Amino acid sequence: MNRRSFLKAVGSAALLPILPRRLSASTNFSRRRPADAAWPSQSAWKQLNDAVGENLIPVEFPLSVLKTDPEGAAAQLLAKNLRNPYYIGDQPGLTETLGWVDAWATKPSVYAVAARNAHDIAEAVNFARENNLRLVVKGGGHSYQGTSNAPDSLLIWTRHMHDIEMHTAFVPQGCEQTLQPQPAVTLGAGTIWMQAYDAVTTKGGRYVQGGGCTTVGVAGLIQSGGFGSHSKHYGTAAGGLLEAEVVTADGEIRIANACTNPDLFWALKGGGGGSYCVVSKVTVRTHDLPEFFGPTNFTIKAASDDDYKRLIREFVSFYAEHLFNDHWGEQARMNPDNKFVISMLSQGLDAGQAKKVWQPFLDWVARSPQAYSIEGRVVIGSLPAQHMWDVQWWKEHWPELAFPNPNGSLLTGLLDYSLVHLIPQPVLNFDDRPGAEPNNAWWKGDGGQVGWFIWGFESLWLPASLLENSAQERLADALFASSRHSGFELHFNKGLAGAPPDAIARSKDTATNPAVLTAFALAIAGDAQGPAYPGIPGHEPSVAEGRKAAERVDQCMGQLRTLVPDPGAYVSESNYFEKGWQQAYWGSNHPRLAEIKKKYDPDGLFFVHSGVGSEQWSRDGFTKL
Ligand SMILES: Cc1cc2nc3c(=O)[nH]c(=O)nc-3n(C[C@H](O)[C@H](O)[C@H](O)COP(=O)(O)OP(=O)(O)OC[C@H]3O[C@@H](n4cnc5c(N)ncnc54)[C@H](O)[C@@H]3O)c2cc1C
Repeated sequence: MNRRSFLKAVGSAALLPILPRRLSASTNFSRRRPADAAWPSQSAWKQLNDAVGENLIPVEFPLSVLKTDPEGAAAQLLAKNLRNPYYIGDQPGLTETLGWVDAWATKPSVYAVAARNAHDIAEAVNFARENNLRLVVKGGGHSYQGTSNAPDSLLIWTRHMHDIEMHTAFVPQGCEQTLQPQPAVTLGAGTIWMQAYDAVTTKGGRYVQGGGCTTVGVAGLIQSGGFGSHSKHYGTAAGGLLEAEVVTADGEIRIANACTNPDLFWALKGGGGGSYCVVSKVTVRTHDLPEFFGPTNFTIKAASDDDYKRLIREFVSFYAEHLFNDHWGEQARMNPDNKFVISMLSQGLDAGQAKKVWQPFLDWVARSPQAYSIEGRVVIGSLPAQHMWDVQWWKEHWPELAFPNPNGSLLTGLLDYSLVHLIPQPVLNFDDRPGAEPNNAWWKGDGGQVGWFIWGFESLWLPASLLENSAQERLADALFASSRHSGFELHFNKGLAGAPPDAIARSKDTATNPAVLTAFALAIAGDAQGPAYPGIPGHEPSVAEGRKAAERVDQCMGQLRTLVPDPGAYVSESNYFEKGWQQAYWGSNHPRLAEIKKKYDPDGLFFVHSGVGSEQWSRDGFTKL
């Protein structure tokens, strides 16, 4: 919808700012920093502390110990903890990504309100607005682009807001006449997806569409659009949102749903986190669980470049015929060393059905033993869907899964059964801090991103038209050409072409770039190093190497961009330096988002890098341009 027809549709009165304009919106307006004379006094901070139940905390920077006492026990423990996303998430002064070469490095706020409810959030919003402070909001802390940290700021930290309530028949407020009751779950804004899956799936026997990574926050993911392993069947996380409780820039606690503040509700569904308001609660629909989810994992090494090219062509054709449907999500990875890695997840198929799907492709590979070798095991399996996020179940059942009996559900390569007890449980890492919750676990596949420092990262939606017979060769050639520069992945669950009509309809009614609806996959290339931070001797980011890697990532994605006339990128998994980000992230939805931003936050209290309305601010969000 263009701006003119949008104005007509909603009535221009609806777009007037809802807030009285209190702050100077003129140029040269700057937010205050601690060194400024007008920084709030100690007594003003004390008043805020009283108003939020003494939950105003000075924010420490845990990495400081690496400078002050690098050899000490605390530094050693920190180095270990920087690999644990639960530790990082528990620190108001840290973020999952520590930084990005030439872009940003994580920095603590001056103070944080460790909010317990919407009232605490409203107090913090009012204080920041009235004192001209830079405000920042953090939930799970998984922003790649550093949008949940800012130095010299006041942080609203929702980590402790993780109440969960299941509903059998939820009706959004004010929608009693228009919407049918439906099963749903209400999640505090600081809930991470593992907590949601534990309540909804493991304990509740139902499905909720969240993220693949267990430690991502619910409010951040939904505002990103949000994909999980099975989004090809259920659609985006944003598409599942039924209602949000929010605090707007005027400090009012409001409800946003299809009937109340519907424009804000729509913006929250994929319009980007931290740009419109602070979310205190979300209510999302739940679905019946399928009987099975199932992993498929294997790696094929091609003997030569030509063999690799043939393999990619075969896979493209195989994917189009056998996998391009709502049963199959997650990834295929292509690497410069001619390795082809499948890490996919199915829903609704038992192991026998899944194996049958893959057999023609594995047979094709087996027919050319000179050209292709399988590295390690081929795993094609299934597990009861209710146990997908059941940590205890994984701990008890993994040997049976990895080493099947003759009638078992997994295909494996040759294995020495005597080694069973020597091989660790294969899929999850655990939080081993004393007193940690037993469900604190994360997929090993996400472990490389914990505490990393990014060198380069880009994404691009690939339209399903590239899977047509006439286009397959062009697609395969571009995939091969991309793989010469850098490893990259096709995330099939992050493109919704092939999804059922109801999932498409829900996801269409969101702010995410409509390119997602007709894409068969999101291509992602990235490179990074393990924990590093500027100014810490021995742990400095490798800037020169990082710049070269970023170039390789860009060249890799450049090959794929030649296939797509209007390249779109996923807002939360994209380049910090994305050119034309308004179009790339939101496509034709951007003008409507810009109007909603003006209506609910006319003075730009909420600022994030490359967020809607951020063009009007300096890169650090302090100075109005
Ligand atoms: C290891 C890893 C794995 C990932 N896996 C996936 C995946 O499987 N699928 C996927 O779609 N994405 C994935 N992402 C991207 C992730 O979903 C987004 O970065 C998401 O925005 C993170 O939300 P968060 O709450 O964890 O992060 P935060 O950094 O806390 O927040 C992200 C943004 O949302 C804002 N925000 C957070 N809480 C609120 C709130 N209550 N109100 C208003 N604004 C808020 C923040 O200000 C920030 O701008 C992954 C990221 C990482 C690091």
